[in-house]
Amino acid sequence: MSTSHPRQPVLFLGHGNPMLAITDNPYADAWQALGRTLPRPRAIVAVSAHWFGPGTAVTAQARPQTIHDFGGFPRALFEVQYPAPGDPTLAQRLVELLAPQTAVRLSEDWGLDHGSWSVLRHLYPAADIPVVQLSLDARQSPDWHFALGRRLAPLRDEGVLLLGSGNLVHHLGRVEWRDNAPPHPWASSADQWFAERIAARDFDALCRISDFDAAARLAVPSPDHYLPLLHVLGASDEHDRISFPIEGIDLAAISMRSCLCQPGVNR
Ligand code: ZN
Repeated sequence: MSTSHPRQPVLFLGHGNPMLAITDNPYADAWQALGRTLPRPRAIVAVSAHWFGPGTAVTAQARPQTIHDFGGFPRALFEVQYPAPGDPTLAQRLVELLAPQTAVRLSEDWGLDHGSWSVLRHLYPAADIPVVQLSLDARQSPDWHFALGRRLAPLRDEGVLLLGSGNLVHHLGRVEWRDNAPPHPWASSADQWFAERIAARDFDALCRISDFDAAARLAVPSPDHYLPLLHVLGASDEHDRISFPIEGIDLAAISMRSCLCQPGVNR
């Protein structure tokens, strides 16, 4: 592996509802602006909330397919393609990096799901940076996912951007499908609590999902959209500057907060 690359940041993005991928909206504008400010990575490892199942797998194709893993949306959303190349060598690097503790399966079946492409098409619209997706092992604890993120940290010095895509607050049962729906108080409260804990680097608290108070339990009714944050924080270090370049609560119950950990002098 070349070591001539400047150290990459790690980034968590709240992707929200799939329509944000194709409509004019402030989040899409913010993703585009963010993409213009980040150092260009050699490749991207994306951890999406929407690849959540038993075991750990990585997309291994040279040309991963665009997956439309949703229903009930307009045809235009099903026609989106994000034709970024894959990176079979990077997929193999992940297998080696995570061995022997974690056996990573090379997948030819999955591709880029909407957790990845809904934000990547705005972040890097040219789709010319190779992307591999890493799955979330649904059988494992938050601590385990945080520790896995820590083991991904060496990729940062290999020009690889670790991108977690989920939502800190994500309760589909409490979503209100209308523009400018005011946030549920518990959603705002949980989003703020997460932000404070992240800024304070209180990663232990963020991993203790079972200890969450009522607001945070409502915010994280299932771990899939939350866990990508823990990969990102696991791969951060004390020299990173932590910021929240995008904030907001969409549809009353979805936090769009993003978290960027950038190399820099901290404190
Ligand atoms: Zn989602």
